[in-house]
Amino acid sequence: MAEKAGFNPFEMARAQFDKIADMLELSTGARELLRSPMREYHFNIPVRMDDGSVQVFRGFRSQHNDARGPCKGGIRFHPQETIDTVRALSMWMTWKCAVVDIPLGGGKGGVICDPHNLSAREQEQICRGWVRQISRDIGPVTDVPAPDVMTNAQHMLWMLDEFETIHGGHYPGLITGKPVGMGGSLGRTQATGYGLVYTLREALKELKIRPSDTLASVQGFGNVAQYAIELYSQIGGTVVCVSSWDQKDQTSYSFIKKDGIDLAALKGITDRFGGIDKAKAAELGYVVSDGDAWLTQDVDILIPCALENQIDGDNAGSISKRVKIVAEGANGPTTPEADAILHERGIFTIPDFLANAGGVTCSYFEQVQSNMNYFWELDEVLGKLDLKMTAAYLAVSDLARKQKLYMRDAAYVLAINRVAQACQDRGWV
Ligand code: NAD
Repeated sequence: MAEKAGFNPFEMARAQFDKIADMLELSTGARELLRSPMREYHFNIPVRMDDGSVQVFRGFRSQHNDARGPCKGGIRFHPQETIDTVRALSMWMTWKCAVVDIPLGGGKGGVICDPHNLSAREQEQICRGWVRQISRDIGPVTDVPAPDVMTNAQHMLWMLDEFETIHGGHYPGLITGKPVGMGGSLGRTQATGYGLVYTLREALKELKIRPSDTLASVQGFGNVAQYAIELYSQIGGTVVCVSSWDQKDQTSYSFIKKDGIDLAALKGITDRFGGIDKAKAAELGYVVSDGDAWLTQDVDILIPCALENQIDGDNAGSISKRVKIVAEGANGPTTPEADAILHERGIFTIPDFLANAGGVTCSYFEQVQSNMNYFWELDEVLGKLDLKMTAAYLAVSDLARKQKLYMRDAAYVLAINRVAQACQDRGWV
């Protein structure tokens, strides 16, 4: 992925790991094992292009750790994909699966390509070529891919079809993110936003705050934000501000309504990329403000659901004194500098890899349903999701309380400890 010059996500993932490894006093062997992916694959994917020429694309898969179960993680298509991004993301997947206690490890894959400049047929050839290169090293009991940046359910089906052709059978548990009716799970669309609110609900209970007494401000208005707002409103909360990216103006705006936004009405004026029409919003009575206004609202809860690096050392000081909770829907929305400020101010943080783990948990449910070829009703999926997210949240907050840890550190301690323990129990370290 495109990163700021000098920023290396793998170095960052390792630094986070090293800090917790010190706290846990992990053995040298465990540290060495967990600092790098156990296996990684680099390969060429030759594709006959529509104009008859051959183009060779570079593909990757990183399997960081599978001590707790098959590796799990998405496949990105991006022109600036790098192996270090893939390595870091696979490591973060290991911790995310461990913190919600699902029996999976961490993986991630990618192809250096830009789908904007590729026909559907060319993309299909990349998907099939990716599987041909690695078909012996992925599978329902070894490594289970999923969609990620610029890949979708169609890409997953092409990959599944190629795998099943090679292996001669039906293996829907190979891959997740499939359409409902073709091995996908009900509830996946809601899973990340709802999962976030299950953890938020528990945090409010522990802090003895009634949801109906709270106001929230949300950055973003895409998949995660919309479902988080839906469930948060159902449990009694009021959202007074959302923000979104305006493709035409190439900037972001915040949309404020002091007596609470109307989710259905706002969805009606939002494009499929989560961009809200600002002229129509103004007509509906919203105050349209600058993109940073979501952060400075006088609310109890902030829910960043857009991008990484949004709350930083420069703007964290402008957060209202009323804010008690930050629930991170996006990946990495808070920089380490901002984190220190939140910690000092006593703002309770539900860290990203716990708060947004509803998505991977539902992917795990998809895999389970696919492997037994029996699919649950929506209620059953959401009920199981609630149980998993609630249990994960309570385990982290319990540890944070007992060991007087910041929530983010407690989540890492719990996750890394579980993985290190599994490696030790297997006799690896
Ligand atoms: P999405 O593309 O559906 O929505 C993104 C939203 O953010 C859109 O409303 C867009 O307008 C808005 N946005 C973009 N740039 C912005 C900016 N500078 N300021 C304000 N708003 C901006 O994406 P999503 O699936 O909702 O994912 C949001 C975040 O959650 C990402 O960080 C993603 O990695 C993370 N996440 C998503 C899932 C999932 O299941 N969808 C799971 C885990 C983590």
